[in-house]
Amino acid sequence: MKLQGKKTLVLGAGKSGVMSAEFLVERGAVVALHDKKPIKDWTDEARSLKNKKIGLIDGQIPSWLLDQIDLVVISPGIPTGVIPARYVERKGSEVIGEVELGFRFIKGRIVGITGSNGKTTTTTLIGELLKNAGIPVQIGGNIGTPLVSLAESSREDGWTVVELSSFQLETIKDFHSNVAVALNVTPNHLDRYDFFSDYAAAKHRLFINQTADDVAILNADDEITLSWAKGLKANITFFSVKKELDEGLFLRGRDLICRAGGKEKVLTTCDDIFLRGLHNVENVLASLAAGLACGASLDSMRETVKNFKGVEHRIEFVAEIEGVKFFNDSKATSVDASAKALEALSDGDGKIILILGGRGKNAPYQPLVRLIKENVRALVLIGEDAENIENQLKNHAKITRADSMPDAVRKSFESAENGDAVLLAPACASFDMFRSFEERGMVFKCAVENLTSKKQARKAI
Ligand code: ADP
Repeated sequence: MKLQGKKTLVLGAGKSGVMSAEFLVERGAVVALHDKKPIKDWTDEARSLKNKKIGLIDGQIPSWLLDQIDLVVISPGIPTGVIPARYVERKGSEVIGEVELGFRFIKGRIVGITGSNGKTTTTTLIGELLKNAGIPVQIGGNIGTPLVSLAESSREDGWTVVELSSFQLETIKDFHSNVAVALNVTPNHLDRYDFFSDYAAAKHRLFINQTADDVAILNADDEITLSWAKGLKANITFFSVKKELDEGLFLRGRDLICRAGGKEKVLTTCDDIFLRGLHNVENVLASLAAGLACGASLDSMRETVKNFKGVEHRIEFVAEIEGVKFFNDSKATSVDASAKALEALSDGDGKIILILGGRGKNAPYQPLVRLIKENVRALVLIGEDAENIENQLKNHAKITRADSMPDAVRKSFESAENGDAVLLAPACASFDMFRSFEERGMVFKCAVENLTSKKQARKAI
């Protein structure tokens, strides 16, 4: 792709937009960066692009400028139907996302991962599987490192493992995954999509450029991803935790098995997976299928799975204090993800003290009722949605309110008995109290840490 002298417009001045603008200008394009927010509210990084001869535009984009644009790079947070993108496309210029732009400059092969839940865990694990098997690999995409920043370091003989959100998949054109993984498709982001099928269709785009030389890895337990098998050109590998498959990767008892051409191999066992919950067995099966497709050796993959401790803020074990274990699942920002975390921790002997709340997403909390009745000793509620949660769940558990995360941790510990687990899996966004789910998780971990040191200090006295 030739960028020299191309007049480009980057929509959205977040991380992906900033990196795209820099990438384009370094390759000789004439670049304007736009965000509807006033420039004074942009990040320092975005504002500093002025020094790199990138034009900064806030508010409305003048039509004389739109008339001249050869290429639009649109950020994932911006709906593809916005007027500037539509006008530029109508006059025959390209509108693509950062993933597509990066892809056009990336050398080597690609593993693409999408799904409603489990993308980051699976992307990270696949990266580890390949790296430890001696295969040159780098990871990026939705996980936090834009693809444009990986172009330079990519190698012809290597792989780039890319986490892809539905928003990013909307704006790909030639993007081609040699190995593509679809984990699951459950209702999500319905504020952006009119219909669930629109959301599913965006995810399905991961496979559009695959050929018969490629591999598509699909969850056989998920109705939607299962239904995709019919139309794909690639070789399909299914995985399942619910049933034994004639061909593919599945769970039998505690063994993770691969069956191909009538032959079976035990890949690993649940006892060698540190991560909790059946959903993580799905992530491991999908990752092993990808590892096999990329040529990683089984011995090395077995070892990697055994040592993989998961990703921060995803059912992350924090500490054990006086027989009470603390888990941080701050990434559980939906009711569905909280339910998975509760299920994952329900195999222990003790009960769970669940910290719930934050900025609600207007989704009912009822799907938690069964799990709460069976496994939860007490709920500790925080944040804006605490009252709403209390109204919905008050008949099913003992409820305590907390006015800060340290307060919630303290009250949870007070309610816990020996053998119990305290779980932060709030089912809500974090923005009412924190900048991000990462900050919420860090504050939780610090509060647990403080509890530990106070206990130690008390013991010492
Ligand atoms: P994503 O990147 O898709 O948001 P993560 O790996 O960050 O996925 O996990 C997000 C949340 O979803 C976590 O709370 C985690 O416990 C839960 N989760 C992880 N894998 C799965 C899965 N395969 N199915 C359902 N939930 C999952």
